[in-house]
Amino acid sequence: MSELYCGRSSPPLRDWGGRLPVALVFPEAAEHGLSTLGWQVVYRLLAANERLAVERFFWDSTSPRPRSVDSGRDLGLFPLVLFSLNFEGDFPNALKLLMDADIPVRAADRPSWPVVLAGGPVAFLNPFPMLPALDGLFVGEAEAGLCDVVERIARTWVEGGGKQAALEAVAPLPGVMVPGLSPEPVRRAVVGSSNVLGRPAYSCFVSSEAQFRDMLLLEVNRGCPYGCRFCAAGSIYKPPRHAEMAVLQEIVERCEPHKVGLVGTALTDWPDLLPFLRWLAERKVKFSLSSLRADGLTEELLGFLRHTGTRSVTLALEGASRRLRRAMNKHFSEEAFLEAVARVSRLQFGTLKLYMITGWPDEGEEDWAEFEEFMACVDAARREGQGNRKKGVELVSLSVSCLVPKAWTPLQWADTPDEDRLKAAMKRFKAIVGRHKGMRFAGENSAQARVQMFLARGGEEIFPCLERAAEIGLSAAMREHDALVHDVLRRHPERDTVFPWDRLDIGVSRKFLYSEWIKYGRGMVTPPCPQDGCQACGLCGMDDFLSLSHGR
Ligand code: SF4
Repeated sequence: MSELYCGRSSPPLRDWGGRLPVALVFPEAAEHGLSTLGWQVVYRLLAANERLAVERFFWDSTSPRPRSVDSGRDLGLFPLVLFSLNFEGDFPNALKLLMDADIPVRAADRPSWPVVLAGGPVAFLNPFPMLPALDGLFVGEAEAGLCDVVERIARTWVEGGGKQAALEAVAPLPGVMVPGLSPEPVRRAVVGSSNVLGRPAYSCFVSSEAQFRDMLLLEVNRGCPYGCRFCAAGSIYKPPRHAEMAVLQEIVERCEPHKVGLVGTALTDWPDLLPFLRWLAERKVKFSLSSLRADGLTEELLGFLRHTGTRSVTLALEGASRRLRRAMNKHFSEEAFLEAVARVSRLQFGTLKLYMITGWPDEGEEDWAEFEEFMACVDAARREGQGNRKKGVELVSLSVSCLVPKAWTPLQWADTPDEDRLKAAMKRFKAIVGRHKGMRFAGENSAQARVQMFLARGGEEIFPCLERAAEIGLSAAMREHDALVHDVLRRHPERDTVFPWDRLDIGVSRKFLYSEWIKYGRGMVTPPCPQDGCQACGLCGMDDFLSLSHGR
């Protein structure tokens, strides 16, 4: 198998004889799949196995039947269908793909092959709205055991065994949930047991059709030490692990990309960031960075980024006020933030993108009034940075999204924010930003956000609505299931509420999450994960979880 498929080159097709044909399905458009690392890691892992014939499927609304982009074969021909679920919004598409391939949507209506499994980040967040359609889940990081699972299914298939035999063969494996066969809760399968990411993920497809065009995506770190209380990635990818520069350099030398996209959280915390960027620049390899923390934006780093062609800088504000940022455990310094704004302006970057969330429990007028003052400070810092130069940073754009209280975060105990309050906040922020020249506002549509809340907080009880959504579209199906939608969105979780996702064990204790929820209410912060681990959330303290996550 070639290391990297660039441009239009695609992987060689394997003969199906004596192999298990596997449909690896990304239920979103190809441009997204070609820019998603997790799904590409799975492809690389499975395609390396000679006993499998892996083919790729993407969501294509123009195609009446789902067809492999590698062979044109119909999805209905594959005995193993593996969905990569990256967003809750993938659910209706995944069901529609099954419907269009004439594969019975409900697992209970599929006594024989195909086996339909799902993996990906949503599988270890809250996959339960989709569960009635699935024969099973792979809960965790693909490198931590997915190959063994597919290998066992392949053996059963090649030996002429039935679907039930295949499910019984994989049910006891680490990270596998086969409803009714696997003991629950199912532990998340995690790679490695230290803070080093031994095998960082990297693209196996680099394409001009990808959202990140012609870019080799390279994982610098997995998980995040900061523990922001709204961030699911911070929880489901614990413990924080980082790659070693030498390993990343070896990948770049082997793949010879024109451009590299560094993927990770808190990239500026990585002590080798600037040395690695200099190394890339010396080899004339372009690069782009995902999120940056204001307190890591040194003059030297920003100067280097500006000098090597970076035009925009992205900073996360997250909350409108100091109180909210403390409550969400956002380790944030206003001084460092404003200093970064001045630097960005002094170095004349094109755009400064700011991100914020609204809809926090008990957010209100006081927070918005403080935000007004803070945006005036941002404007002043921008002008101070510009000094007497003709121009500073050309545009400051503020994007505000709506809080979706997610599974496995302390905010899983929060009520979902109501639409009127979201609209009032967006109106307020728009007015505040509108007072500053060279600033632009973009607010998420609150009705759209409530769709995501419904999908993120529901369990198996919302499956009939999803099934209907695959036929008539999600908004129409939600209107038809209005009472159910209201019931899910109006739930008021209590301390002992059993959540649908409690059938999983991601390693972060419920006790820790609840104590963090209490701290949210009291505006208390929790320090970031210490370098050598601690016992706080229960993950690092449980060596058996990390080492045994490869065995039940
Ligand atoms: S045990 Fe401590 S260091 Fe480890 S992931 Fe949890 S909070 Fe972070």
